Amino acid sequence: MPELPEVETIARQLTKKISGKKIVGVITTRKKLIKEIPPQTFQSKIEGKSVKEVSRRGKVIIIKLEDKLFLIFHLRISGWLILSKKIEKFSAVAFRFEDNELLNFCDTRLFGDIRLIDNWQKLPFIKKMGPEPLDLNERQFIKLFAGKKAKIKPLLMNQEFLAGVGNIYAQESLFCAGIHPERTADTFKREELEKIYHCLLSTLKEAIKKKGTSVDTYRQIDGKDGGYVPFLKVYRRENKPCLHCKTPIERKVIAGRGTYLCPHCQM
Ligand SMILES: [Zn+2]
Repeated sequence: MPELPEVETIARQLTKKISGKKIVGVITTRKKLIKEIPPQTFQSKIEGKSVKEVSRRGKVIIIKLEDKLFLIFHLRISGWLILSKKIEKFSAVAFRFEDNELLNFCDTRLFGDIRLIDNWQKLPFIKKMGPEPLDLNERQFIKLFAGKKAKIKPLLMNQEFLAGVGNIYAQESLFCAGIHPERTADTFKREELEKIYHCLLSTLKEAIKKKGTSVDTYRQIDGKDGGYVPFLKVYRRENKPCLHCKTPIERKVIAGRGTYLCPHCQM
């Protein structure tokens, strides 16, 4: 599933490529992805509108159109975006620009969703969303843990606790911090939370620099893979030697999600 670095990459690339461009057509192959309004209304409201800007909140892409309308894309587990000259193979909805380029929302499993809304801040899942990790300083980050007792890995992935962190970057950050993903939030010393904070931020920033991790369907908007896979230190490295101590990396299911860790380095 695309996480903060992947969605940030897409938002930055789209900003460069589609800002100021007018959408002249909407081609809907899979109606299921368009939520809350009929596809016909969706189409007629969008056609003729120019893109003002593209941004991100958590794992959500926000495309601001003219007339205070917002296109909200949630890629969920199997969605990706491609800007090309044709309707792509798994295109569910495609937006045609006046220069004939198409922004394809592709989705193999159709769990993604697309909304057209005038007040995106009022969407329930946006209202409940926790802070953006890259906007927090160390003190603000540590404050989030007050009164929390959940296991650290599912806590970091909880979008109401912190926005944008998912399965890959929670594991990579905890390996970096030397913290066992099953430790509960009430067991940490201040220095450990400081370590988690710095590891989380450096991991997210590095992954943005490398344009994200392509292990599933995620691609950059030109269809190329993100460049972060060679920098993953634990994710999907079961039985391979830990890069610090050579102990074989273990896989454990924690809160229903596969989790990779070094049983020696992560306490
Ligand atoms: Zn180790």
